[in-house]
Amino acid sequence: MVSALDLHSRGYRFKSCTAQLIFMPEDKNIALVVGGSRGIGKAIALSLARSGFDIWLTYQSNHKAAQEVKEEIEKNGVTCRLFAFDIADVKATEEALGKISDATPPQVVVFNAGITRDNLMVWMTKDEWDKVIDTNLTGFYNIMHVLLFAMLREKRGRIVVISSTSGETGQAGQVNYSASKAGLIGAAKALAREVGKKNIFINVVTPGVIETEMTQELPKDKILPLIPLNRFGQPEDVASIVNFLCSEKNMYIHGQVIGVNGGLNI
Ligand code: NAP
Repeated sequence: MVSALDLHSRGYRFKSCTAQLIFMPEDKNIALVVGGSRGIGKAIALSLARSGFDIWLTYQSNHKAAQEVKEEIEKNGVTCRLFAFDIADVKATEEALGKISDATPPQVVVFNAGITRDNLMVWMTKDEWDKVIDTNLTGFYNIMHVLLFAMLREKRGRIVVISSTSGETGQAGQVNYSASKAGLIGAAKALAREVGKKNIFINVVTPGVIETEMTQELPKDKILPLIPLNRFGQPEDVASIVNFLCSEKNMYIHGQVIGVNGGLNI
């Protein structure tokens, strides 16, 4: 049996939390990727894992995809912990992340999960409006409200919020989605003013059209001519800037909105 002394000599330290004693290896940084089972979030999680972060990966219901990402992440010699819950549900979010983040606050949080329910405003149902706002915008409140106090206590951290070009320019057929993504930009800028003095950096990344399941139905032939770089984005195009913003190399970028769109909104 491994004794507490053995664990101590291997670099583990006891940390108390309200209900139990837990072990944590010192100097291991944790990155929480919200919505990391597919698409852009998956690429971000893999990129941060390659940079040495242990990953906490959340998703809603796609267990198979999440398990596959976990296995890929762990090939990099880091750990990956999976959390399945609906970020629109404040209680479920608190239950999944409350205790654990109080005990071991993540250094990095990437708020990436998001959905679309596209429709012209005249036809948009209340349910389509609510689903998108509840997930994309209220989800941000739910996640940050659970984590922020513990992160402030640590006096260090990096937060990246994935918004969208639609939140900057507005997009026909996406009044709900554009509103949620514009809301995220406002929320992140306001939060940047609150937490900067506590050494917590927060920035927003706004992808253009990135090839994932979310965009597979779009009329790509009509969109491509609008992109000066003449190609659609790949999840890795977004992951590389997110990785930079989460790293110590980002020394002075705070409260900013960074477009990753091939020139779509010049
Ligand atoms: P995606 O492939 O559809 O993946 C979405 C991720 O979010 C999945 O991990 C999904 O989990 C999770 N998720 C969705 N709803 C959730 C909920 N209610 N609770 C918890 N997790 C939830 O999307 P993507 O294209 O990679 O987009 C990622 C982010 O980038 C989104 O915020 C999106 O709005 C934004 N974005 C994308 C594009 C683009 O062109 N793709 C452009 C601009 C902005 P499950 O696997 O369990 O469903």
